[in-house]
Amino acid sequence: MIVALAAAFAIAEATAFHFEFKRQAISFSMSEAPLAVALVYVAPVPALAIRLLASVVAIALVRRQRTLKLTFNAALMAFELALIYLFFRLLADGFGSEDTASLVVGAFVAMGLVGTLSSILVAMAVACFEGEFVHRIATELRLAWWLFSVNAAFASMVLALALVSPWLVLVAVVPICALWYVLKAFGVIDQRLRDLDDVHGFTGRVGRSLDPGEIAESAVSEAAKLLRADHAVLVLFDEGEVALTRSAGTSKLAPAESIPGERWLNLVSAGSARLLTPAEQTGLTVDGSSQPDLIVSPISDGTGVIGMLVVSGRTGIAGRFTDNDIARVQNLTEQLASSLRRGMLHQQIETEARHDGLTGLPNRTAFERYVLELLEEDNDTGVLFLLMLDLDRFKEVNDTLGHHAGDELLVEFARRMTARLEPADKMARLAGDEFAIIARRNNHEEMQALANLCLQEASRPVTLDGLEIVVTASVGVAELGEQDPDAAGPMRRADIAMYNAKTQRLGVETYRDELDRRTPARLSMLGDLRAAIESGGLHVHYQPKLDLTTGTVIGAEALVRWTHSVRGEVPPADFVRVAEDTGLIKQLTDLMLSNGIGTLRQIHDRGYRLGLSVNLSTHDLLDTRLPDRVAGYLSMHGVDPALLTVEITESSLLSDAPRSRSTITDLNDIGVQMSIDDFGTGYSSLSYLRRLPVAELKIDQSFVANVLIDEQDEVIVRSTIDLGHNLGLQVVAEGVENNEVLEQLRDFGCDVAQGYCISRPLAARHFIAWLNTTGHPSRLQDPLNPTDWSDTAPTIPRG
Ligand code: C2E
Ligand code: CA
Ligand code: CA
Repeated sequence: MIVALAAAFAIAEATAFHFEFKRQAISFSMSEAPLAVALVYVAPVPALAIRLLASVVAIALVRRQRTLKLTFNAALMAFELALIYLFFRLLADGFGSEDTASLVVGAFVAMGLVGTLSSILVAMAVACFEGEFVHRIATELRLAWWLFSVNAAFASMVLALALVSPWLVLVAVVPICALWYVLKAFGVIDQRLRDLDDVHGFTGRVGRSLDPGEIAESAVSEAAKLLRADHAVLVLFDEGEVALTRSAGTSKLAPAESIPGERWLNLVSAGSARLLTPAEQTGLTVDGSSQPDLIVSPISDGTGVIGMLVVSGRTGIAGRFTDNDIARVQNLTEQLASSLRRGMLHQQIETEARHDGLTGLPNRTAFERYVLELLEEDNDTGVLFLLMLDLDRFKEVNDTLGHHAGDELLVEFARRMTARLEPADKMARLAGDEFAIIARRNNHEEMQALANLCLQEASRPVTLDGLEIVVTASVGVAELGEQDPDAAGPMRRADIAMYNAKTQRLGVETYRDELDRRTPARLSMLGDLRAAIESGGLHVHYQPKLDLTTGTVIGAEALVRWTHSVRGEVPPADFVRVAEDTGLIKQLTDLMLSNGIGTLRQIHDRGYRLGLSVNLSTHDLLDTRLPDRVAGYLSMHGVDPALLTVEITESSLLSDAPRSRSTITDLNDIGVQMSIDDFGTGYSSLSYLRRLPVAELKIDQSFVANVLIDEQDEVIVRSTIDLGHNLGLQVVAEGVENNEVLEQLRDFGCDVAQGYCISRPLAARHFIAWLNTTGHPSRLQDPLNPTDWSDTAPTIPRG
């Protein structure tokens, strides 16, 4: 009997299983059946001895519990047993008789009650460590009472049979096994459903973010929770190196980032989730001890292992991970892989969108965003400076050595600069050879030092294609202040300063308000200007030139006009310079010539024999093919070359080069007239003027404006008129704003006047209408005979 009971106890304990109910682990064993029999046939102390011995052996061998739990379980058993015996005795004696019924009922009630009670005690013990007191006990109670009733019922059935005949107990084996099997199957199915649910919930929560860091963060905390583990770590690799680690919980594992990527990768070479043996854990733990249960699971995408999930330290009653847990970890990592892949792809796209592919520096968008962040930051230390850098001879390198060399130069410059910057400084490549730096410095001296560093690094020789190239840079600096809501303002100011540094060859220039007036924000203008030229967004206006002796209109000056969709009317003084600097001036001049000459044709067709003046810039003079094109436009529209005048500023004539000289002679050769614009502002020598085929001098409007009030200006205007006449040139006064000035000029003997008091520059249509309504339209009587130009110019009444 003793041996049979011991064996039954051992079997019951060995086949005990756990299932979880509402996140609570429940252990279930069939030990009540032998217990019921023991109640009747064995005294309490030997019963306890048998039970303890059998259970301890079974538990230690099969379930390998930790010492603490083993002790706890043993103590619990002793307590249970004592109580059951007590209740049983009380009840059985209470019924007054030792008959079968009272013994069976006594055993049933005692075991049911005590089982429920002790399971609640266990729940309380667990709750002491893991919290959720009320919830745990309520759950336990809900489950325990029926579980133990069923168990006790079966046990009493066994007892009843044993009382009839010990051999009848064997009959009970079948239903007991059936019960055991059904409960276990229920546990497995329930577990599977919960696993599915867990994985589903896990994927949902982890997949909420697109940021790999956040995904990893929630993955570890979710995994630790789902597996009831002390600790979960996620390691992501980038080309074999640890790129990102996140962990949840505490453990004896060394910080994930301190373990080399290779070491981690070795652990997951097997390709699926598994428990690590203690030997495999060397070097992973802080104190060299090994973790009894440590699961590693690789996270793979199509190309290989991208990371791994580590889970360790199973908590709760079960005490260690089961095969089922390993499968769950495997499942989780598979789900995690797709979330991470999505996140990493997203990150890559983001990075590409924010970085310049060539140099790897942040691009304009990223830079602007960063500057905005700095501006919004609450940081009172020092001053923020924005530096705009431009390599001065980059275009030359590109043109002569090719784009490949140009690229190399940019990469090299970016590399050098980033090596010299302070960690908090940020450098970006905005476009082409334009870079920007945002840096916090204590004062202007420190900023200047940074700017000088830029110049220094740019001018250090670079070897490209075996050639040693030296480039220089221009730096524009703007200080950021409270007036700046975003990066746009400082970038514009730094750009203006940089532009000035470049044109004045200053190296470094700091933004001042005066610069703004002189230099446009050409950066953003450039693209728009190109588009405007290509799409016909530029227009020509015509400002009449009045012959002061005859009072007739003798011609018009073509002036370019640009109405920008956002900026509105952009002054030519602003964008013409941009066009000059970027080579767009060629198209601009061509547009002025072809439109202007076309309009002149229409004017001629209406019977007015007028001339047309078109402004040329220095760059146009360097274009030796310009005369050919001018001749082309003239012949295309059938306009007499003598009616076209090109205006060249005095200063642009000074930058004389053989090339511009030849353009001027060629233009003269085809019969085009030449006018010196803005005369008086440059330093052209008389002898030089004499050598040029010039027909006209235009007195700069700055002298004309004050001719009545400023004696000096009056002298200049008068002497210029005399000078021009002495050289046999026609003298034009521009910027004539009122009739008094007009009369004064007439008195001084000035030949031609141009200015607002005669007319503002007008669009072709309005200009023609203006011609038609002006004073004396001595129009050609016979429009079919346009060669007869006698007395055909409109006149303006005197006074
Ligand atoms: P500019 O060649 O000296 O042109 C005369 C400027 O004086 C024009 O300014 C004209 O609108 C303005 N003006 C005319 N009458 C008066 C007046 O009574 N009072 C005042 N205060 N101003 C008057 P705009 O059109 O703004 O052009 C400015 C400059 O831009 C021009 O100076 C010229 O250097 C340049 N520019 C304009 N159109 C072209 C062009 O098609 N090609 C080139 N290369 N440069 C051009
Ligand atoms: Ca002009
Ligand atoms: Ca002028």
